[in-house]
Amino acid sequence: MRPSINEFDYHRITLLADDTPEGKGLFLGRIIPQDKIKMKQIVKWMQYCIRWHGAGCEETLSSLSSGRISKLRVIDTWRLCIVDESSECIYLTLSYVWGSATVFKLTSTNLDELATPGALKKVWRQLPRTIQDSITLTSTLHERYLWIDSLCIIQDSDADKAHYIPYMDSIYDRAFLTIAAATGDSADAGLPGVRKGSRGCSQIIEEVLPSVRLSSIRHLRDALDESVYESRAWT
Ligand SMILES: [Zn+2]
Repeated sequence: MRPSINEFDYHRITLLADDTPEGKGLFLGRIIPQDKIKMKQIVKWMQYCIRWHGAGCEETLSSLSSGRISKLRVIDTWRLCIVDESSECIYLTLSYVWGSATVFKLTSTNLDELATPGALKKVWRQLPRTIQDSITLTSTLHERYLWIDSLCIIQDSDADKAHYIPYMDSIYDRAFLTIAAATGDSADAGLPGVRKGSRGCSQIIEEVLPSVRLSSIRHLRDALDESVYESRAWT
């Protein structure tokens, strides 16, 4: 395919990591499977993080664990319910745009019900697509707990909000990983590539020498600058 000049404005041309020995090569390009995210690749990156990043990625704010919040309400993505876990547990967070989506919320009325194993399966169709995909993604990555504001803070309780909202930054900061849902303009947009066939991006790949291919990578900054996600007050 012959790309247009405009397409290169926001791209960086790079070698494909797939053509390097053992497919290694951080910061090189990769063939993007069109159908679905390559989960193994994300797991690998998570392992790199634990192994190599050290203090840079470890817990920096300890206000959650230093006593003020000893328990954190999280989604148990294996048992599909809301649970109270130690605030020291390993969890992921979701950062997303609510937008115009009708977001199913945790309330004082459904709290007991949602704490029953399998409860989220029962209300699955009422959950916005981005939240469904994040729950699927978390368990597919072999992680168990996920924190999402709408399901982990009782949305009609001033007391619960007063308890957790001052710690929002530390909740995100302490998370092992934050899923940033940067596409679309609402919680119904989903996470591209979690479901089969939901990705659909085009990638230009050219073989310049036998077995040496070049591809173009779009800068994350440029993609984010165009997103609704980035235009919110905070992320
Ligand atoms: Zn890291």
